[in-house]
Amino acid sequence: MVSPEMVYIRGEEMTTYCMDLILDKWIYPHVDTSKWEFFDLSCKSRDETDDQVLRDAVKAGKRVGSIFKEPTVTPSAEQRKSMGLKKALPSPNGAMRRGWNGITISRDTIHIEGLKLGFEKPVLFERHAVGGEYGAGYDTVGSGVLNTIFTAENGKTIVVDSRQLDNKSNAVVTYHNPLDNVEDMAHIFFQRCLEAEVTPYVVTKKTVFKWQEPFWLKFKEVFDEHYRAEFLGRGLILKTGGELQHLISDAATMQIIRWTGGGFGMAAHNYDGDMLTDEIAQIHRSPGFITSNLIGKNDDGSLIKEFEASHGTVADMWHAHLEGKETSLNPLGLVEALIGAMQHSVALHKGPHELHDFANKIRRCMHLAFTNGLGTRDLAGPEGLTTEKFVDAIAELLND
Ligand code: NAD
Repeated sequence: MVSPEMVYIRGEEMTTYCMDLILDKWIYPHVDTSKWEFFDLSCKSRDETDDQVLRDAVKAGKRVGSIFKEPTVTPSAEQRKSMGLKKALPSPNGAMRRGWNGITISRDTIHIEGLKLGFEKPVLFERHAVGGEYGAGYDTVGSGVLNTIFTAENGKTIVVDSRQLDNKSNAVVTYHNPLDNVEDMAHIFFQRCLEAEVTPYVVTKKTVFKWQEPFWLKFKEVFDEHYRAEFLGRGLILKTGGELQHLISDAATMQIIRWTGGGFGMAAHNYDGDMLTDEIAQIHRSPGFITSNLIGKNDDGSLIKEFEASHGTVADMWHAHLEGKETSLNPLGLVEALIGAMQHSVALHKGPHELHDFANKIRRCMHLAFTNGLGTRDLAGPEGLTTEKFVDAIAELLND
């Protein structure tokens, strides 16, 4: 099978080690990947190229429209020192979200028929891909007056806030939530909830954080105009009184633990989404059982889709591996991402359909292994397979 073009972004540590095994044993024997464009976003490669490799990856992703990404390391001050990097490297994820006009990061629970994980039915999450604390400007200042002044393009100014600071030391922060793409995000969220037949909730802390009201209002407007009737007809908003329900973010953290039946979707701002999806991952037994897809928009309106696992580089297992110890990485989230990227490439190029089917076969084989007691240790306990043995077991199934 010849795969159509796709961007493959390499990362670091345990997840790159595991994905290399998977490429060698599951993909290369069956798929001609000569049209894939590989970019190495390890800290070393970014440092050596003065981050040109990141700019190239963003450009290629925009052109190709289908991207697989391994988890990457954003080096801390200590890591910068220990890796001998020339300068501090910013998060590559932020550059991608901006470069691809990121709208939302969709995170869903993975389910294996016949196996009880954390949530019984699917849980869908929509995390706003831009804005909030991640892009904050900040400084530490002494006592004095802090003014936040907005200057419009026509030069008119508005004093957004003015306050007296009495402490000798103050951390001051400015951030904003861009709202233009919230309408697109709402459409993506409600369509996905309908498809998965789950009840939608919008999560904010707007009662106290008043600036979050417009985010909720945009969702409500889109819902009432385009989706309410269909959700009502399908009985999906009966328990919310026939209306779109808002949940305060602290209440959402509690409901996520209580609603183990699943069958719900949540949409939230960037930082809340980051926290709440980690909580969902823990309830659902492992970060390996959650997907994470970034949806962005090209200049011509077509969607750019980047697929990744929701977890990081699994650094603790990497250190154990380097010490010669056994590890057991659950690759389902990573491989769901690879399946998603391959199938999106096939959809963009209208074929080859046998590659779409092969990607489904990979999923079936992984699920079969898990249901037959050949899972990884996060689910199967100490009897579970090591990282390498799980890869070998699936490679054998794929050859059948
Ligand atoms: P992590 O998600 O890598 O690991 C957290 C814990 O969950 C660890 O105990 C790990 O063993 C376990 N775990 C995670 N995925 C697992 C899997 N598939 N199977 C079994 N167990 C799994 O988070 P971390 O340790 O906080 O971060 C490690 C590195 O990853 C950091 O450098 C961080 O910056 C980076 N990171 C990258 C991304 C990304 O690129 N999208 C996201 C998060 C963290």
